Amino acid sequence: MKYISTRGDRTERGFSEILLEGLAPDGGLYLPVAYPRIDDATLTRWRGLRYADLAFEILSLYIDDIPADDLRRLVDKTYTREVFGTEAITPLKPLQPGLCLEALSNGPTLAFKDMAMQLLGNLFEYELGRRGEELNILGATSGDTGSAAEYAMRGKQGVRVFMLSPHGRMSPFQQAQMFSLQDPNIHNLAVQGVFDDCQDIVKAVSNDLAFKRRYKIGTVNSINWARLLAQVVYYFAGYFQATKSNAEQVSFTVPSGNFGNICAGHVARMMGLPIRQLVAATNENDVLDEFFRTGTYRVRKSAETFETSSPSMDISKASNFERFIYDLLGRDGERTRQLFKDEVEQRGAFTLTADEFARVQGFGFASGKSTHADRLQTIRQTWEQHGVMIDTHTADGVKVAREHMQPGTTMIVLETALPVKFAQTIQEALGREPERPAALVGIEDLPKRFEVMPVSAQAVKDYIAEHCAGA
Ligand SMILES: *Cc1c(COP(=O)(O)O)cnc(C)c1O
Repeated sequence: MKYISTRGDRTERGFSEILLEGLAPDGGLYLPVAYPRIDDATLTRWRGLRYADLAFEILSLYIDDIPADDLRRLVDKTYTREVFGTEAITPLKPLQPGLCLEALSNGPTLAFKDMAMQLLGNLFEYELGRRGEELNILGATSGDTGSAAEYAMRGKQGVRVFMLSPHGRMSPFQQAQMFSLQDPNIHNLAVQGVFDDCQDIVKAVSNDLAFKRRYKIGTVNSINWARLLAQVVYYFAGYFQATKSNAEQVSFTVPSGNFGNICAGHVARMMGLPIRQLVAATNENDVLDEFFRTGTYRVRKSAETFETSSPSMDISKASNFERFIYDLLGRDGERTRQLFKDEVEQRGAFTLTADEFARVQGFGFASGKSTHADRLQTIRQTWEQHGVMIDTHTADGVKVAREHMQPGTTMIVLETALPVKFAQTIQEALGREPERPAALVGIEDLPKRFEVMPVSAQAVKDYIAEHCAGA
């Protein structure tokens, strides 16, 4: 399988070439030249597979430059009961007939990002070892992504992580999760500013091309194709658990921010998985809901981006959205480039033509929006009626899912985090503390390892230079 850019550059690259990359050189995102189609016999064969075996089958269709035995070993090492808590890896939890959750949050950081990031850690270590190279991952986080990256990369050969976070602004639980890591290859930099300052520093450092090259700076952000690919697997796993025969369809509702998670659902559907609808659920930051209602994609300014109680969905633009638009437009790279480069990058918005927008339905997409009041009510209702405690992001999903249920089609809501990560809102909704997995009791009391930094790209560069031996 080869990969091309969404912005018209049809240079074909292998999986291993794009694994460690972010954007394509023309500024687009990588996609496979075509989606492999899964026939009925293959679906039937996959139905009985363990999660790791299913992952191997799906990944093999997209990765032909890692020997099969090696890929199998990497996948087997990633998707284990030890790491994800159950044999099923992503078990379904029924709420009521026709509505269930798919649990994606039982990895080390209790959010769905572990599903992909844990694999990425193993793939990075493998590929860097094969090349005899090193990589320094630089990132900014306000919570979920940073901790998922650190838990995926801890102790990995050839990889260091430098993760910037706003000093004193993460929840005590999130701080404890990240700062309690004692692995020497993990560096927590607590910046004396807000999250945007952290992001600006990452941009400034990455824009210094000489520094970037010398210190082999890379990222693990959500546009990475391997992350998206790893997420395709749990759509199949969810489908097989919810159905008895391939004649049945299911729908998924996905709490969405950067459109990475739901884009994996789109890929699964393009491969032929019988998905009726893919419903994007947003919070008050409703860039995506606005698009699916109107055909206008309008990114928000910082001042228009709200801080909500489902913070991992507080986005101003959806960085993976371009992948879907490329497919929607019949893979027209010229038109995609025009929309994202000439219109979004210049004016902050585009509007599809009526003909273009009319195609959205054929791709199964729908959307809805949820607010803080909706989250509280949904958390309360799900607890009282079903005895299941859900987090704020999953609550956005359940709220929107209820508006899109159709008789005869099971609706699967992707559970993207566990409630313990968002204790304050759970308190507000239920008047009680969230449940906490036994392994995480008392993590706030563990010793913390972090370095306080001024808001200064130079200070961060100095720190990186000092901690990269031999560069
Ligand atoms: C990252 C995240 C999301 C949003 O996922 P996208 O792939 O960015 O759409 C939703 N919920 C939680 C808990 C997350 O961490």
